[in-house]
Amino acid sequence: MAPQPPKPLPANATIGILGGGQLGRMTALAAAPLGYRCHIYDPDAAGGPAAQVSAAATSAAWDDWAALDAFAKTVDVVTYEFENVPMATVDYLMRRVPVRPGPMALEVAQHRVEEKSFARDQGLETAHYWGVTTLDELIDGLAAVGVPSILKTCRLGYDGKGQIRIDMDTSLSKVWDDLGSDDAILERMVRFTTEVSVIAARGLDGEIACFPVTENSHEDGILRRSVVPAQIPDGVAEAARHAAETLIEALDIVGLLAVEMFVTEEGEVLVNEVAPRPHNSGHWTQNGCATSQFEQFVRAVTGLPLGPTDILFETEMLNLIGDDVDAVPGHLRDPAAHVHLYGKAESRPGRKMGHVNRRLSLRRGS
Ligand code: AMP
Repeated sequence: MAPQPPKPLPANATIGILGGGQLGRMTALAAAPLGYRCHIYDPDAAGGPAAQVSAAATSAAWDDWAALDAFAKTVDVVTYEFENVPMATVDYLMRRVPVRPGPMALEVAQHRVEEKSFARDQGLETAHYWGVTTLDELIDGLAAVGVPSILKTCRLGYDGKGQIRIDMDTSLSKVWDDLGSDDAILERMVRFTTEVSVIAARGLDGEIACFPVTENSHEDGILRRSVVPAQIPDGVAEAARHAAETLIEALDIVGLLAVEMFVTEEGEVLVNEVAPRPHNSGHWTQNGCATSQFEQFVRAVTGLPLGPTDILFETEMLNLIGDDVDAVPGHLRDPAAHVHLYGKAESRPGRKMGHVNRRLSLRRGS
């Protein structure tokens, strides 16, 4: 007998989301048209971006086992919108309800050395790197990796936080003290021509669909702008897609995997970071793609078939960071623009307040 396709969750089922930020918000908004409800779990869930648009929210600590028990009883599947959920929380929930993606993806994505060595084990390229836990190892690492290089904390770094550049004249003991962590990675500074990312989705039946390669510009480690299609040769795009497909399969993910990569002058594709969840560089899909990354995420974790990933419009995504939100009235007057705000009460420098997706042109041939 032919294998039966996996059964999707019925409409009206509830998706539990660990994490209460903007990615949870946009996932909950995408779940609604498919008939699903969302229950947010986060120590600061109450009134946050995701809770504002969800059927239920629990504000409790990651190790509040009674609260996790109660949460598990109300949901049909659990996923997460950020990758720093403690592993013990995920282990606890997994014994009560399916958690998608599973723990391997989280474990790898939570640690920069794990992430790079996992990518290399799959035959993919990364920047030269060296795991560093002491000042002596930093000195050895610098001899191996060379300058300029960049020292990063292995865990909990995001948007360029926990990163220090090292040049010839940098004092290593000062850098080591400033980093304030004894679990770090030293990476050779890559002279990239382009930064790109690919978001892949994998369904419950193992089907994989990649979104088109996105070209990204960062400032001070924070994503500012993404544009599709990426202006890169076909062979480079193919290598980027291959990296995402290889990693999502190897990590046995049901859900999404975002893979950030550097493209060098020689056309090499180096894996920099992975995230097993929706990603800022995929926000353009909300208005420029046949299926948004958030809908695709919901489809994957609930067992629905994946949606098409064709580009509808050449699109740019601009992050609204800090005071950038003051420009929203202007964006609203632009007929090519779609504004997405995250419902954050207070704007602070460096804080992502929303984004704008702007149509650049109709896709040629469409
Ligand atoms: P990350 O937190 O690793 O995603 O780094 C944030 C940004 O810093 C990247 O998107 C790059 O723009 C820059 N960056 C990080 N690592 C490197 C590296 N090894 N070489 C060059 N630029 C880097």
